[in-house]
Amino acid sequence: MKQEQIDALRHLPIPDQGMLIDGQWAAAASGQTLPVVSPIDGQQLCTIAAAGQPDVDRAVQAARRSFGQGVWSRMAPAERKKILHRIADRIEAHHAELAVLGVRDNGTEIAMAWKAEPGSAAGTFRYYAECVDKVNGEIAPTPDGTLGLIHKEAVGVVGAIVPWNFPLMIGAWKIAPALAAGNSVVLKPSEDASLSLLRLAQLCLDAGLPPGVLNVVTGTGAEAGEALARHMDVDILTFTGSGPVGRMLLKASAESNLKRVYLELGGKSPNVVFDDAPDLAQAAKVSAMGIYRNSGQVCVAGARLLVQRSVHDEFVDRLHKIAASLRVGDPLDVSTEIGAVSSARQLAKNLAAVQTAQQQGARLRVGGGALQPVAGGSYMAPALFDGVTPDMTLAREEVFGPVLAVLPFDVEADAVRLANDSTYGLASAVWTGSLSRAHRMVRAIKAGVVHVNTYGGPDITVPLGGVRQSGNGHDKSMHALDKYLDLKTAWIQL
Ligand code: NAD
Repeated sequence: MKQEQIDALRHLPIPDQGMLIDGQWAAAASGQTLPVVSPIDGQQLCTIAAAGQPDVDRAVQAARRSFGQGVWSRMAPAERKKILHRIADRIEAHHAELAVLGVRDNGTEIAMAWKAEPGSAAGTFRYYAECVDKVNGEIAPTPDGTLGLIHKEAVGVVGAIVPWNFPLMIGAWKIAPALAAGNSVVLKPSEDASLSLLRLAQLCLDAGLPPGVLNVVTGTGAEAGEALARHMDVDILTFTGSGPVGRMLLKASAESNLKRVYLELGGKSPNVVFDDAPDLAQAAKVSAMGIYRNSGQVCVAGARLLVQRSVHDEFVDRLHKIAASLRVGDPLDVSTEIGAVSSARQLAKNLAAVQTAQQQGARLRVGGGALQPVAGGSYMAPALFDGVTPDMTLAREEVFGPVLAVLPFDVEADAVRLANDSTYGLASAVWTGSLSRAHRMVRAIKAGVVHVNTYGGPDITVPLGGVRQSGNGHDKSMHALDKYLDLKTAWIQL
């Protein structure tokens, strides 16, 4: 990643965007559009189409038609695999363009977006390309004279609704396994970050994905998202986003065709530091980035730091120094450590959370205010609170911003109790030099992921999903394929 490479792309004009339906780019039937405003400087980049019910209908019909015709679902697995690999090739060939486009749209620091967005998206397509011809049915151990076959079949039409924080990576986590399983897809990106996914859709067509197999409808959640969630001909809805929207999707399914709904929701993930951690300096550095990277807009962010009292003051001092020294700035500058907050709306939410925490008696050690390293943009100084108690809003509710809450504990049992004192269960971490304690904590913490002596970074080979109100089902790994397959029994008298 070179600054000149980024500078050559950062001011390219972006045309107004249509939607991809049945292999054709089209405006919304209503002609309505939404402005795309960059959080870097508050300037409008372009418009996206604001899809309504008729557009979503057309996209679902195209997906259903392509599925029924078998242009993808019945294509030889080896051919499907080649096309998914070609999509990965195209993403790699357009790596810089995709990364810069995404950052202009959502403000993530380029150092992070470079790896996490096109880098992971390409890797995800490759991983699932390799799965296409390795999904077998089963023969059951049935009584003599009978044969029980268990077929694994593509389900049909998958609706995917994704958020703005890592649109390409999370989009790929849904699209690639759904396609690998043989389904057709209708994708609804966030209205706050559609551009890189629209570009990906064109790259998929260029790579030979047949028309109608991947359709993209842009627009608001209330219009386009809701129309997809309530559609009678969508078989599966796979979602990443907030808890309140997740609840609405379950309701929409119940009130329409009982489509399967998979939810990857938010969290308030505990990061537990024991006094026997092997390297407190390293633990502080990684923990700081575990909450502050991408301005805290990371579903698995370690937002609740539980520190053993014997090292509490030393650890908070270390964090204080790190938080105060992080370079918040233009996300397209390669030396920036923390980029922009995704929108002025999200920044206002973050600032309100800081104010509430102060009103409730938490102590703001550093940061917490709005910054303007680029005129017109939305930026925030990483905030560190200590003196947080378990009943405070900051200990209970997700901010989705660069705000860290520190709570002390005395013994391991207290750490477990505090870690699990949450309605969420997405990620967590434990810092300890004791192997036994590490394994005890892995078993005791209620979460989909427990990191040990690290935070973040699990690759595509392992699942990501939450328990409790952080959701159900998993993205990533071979397990994600199960979401997009149906089991069918053939019971045969021999
Ligand atoms: P959001 O729920 O507001 O929006 C997510 C998507 O849902 C967007 O595409 C939006 O347009 C759509 N949507 C909104 N209202 C809808 C409705 N009524 N019907 C259908 N669709 C609707 O979330 P966000 O603000 O984009 O993202 C932040 C949230 O996502 C945070 O809570 C974060 O923790 C969560 N998240 C979770 C994961 C994970 O893997 N668990 C990953 C990233 C983000």
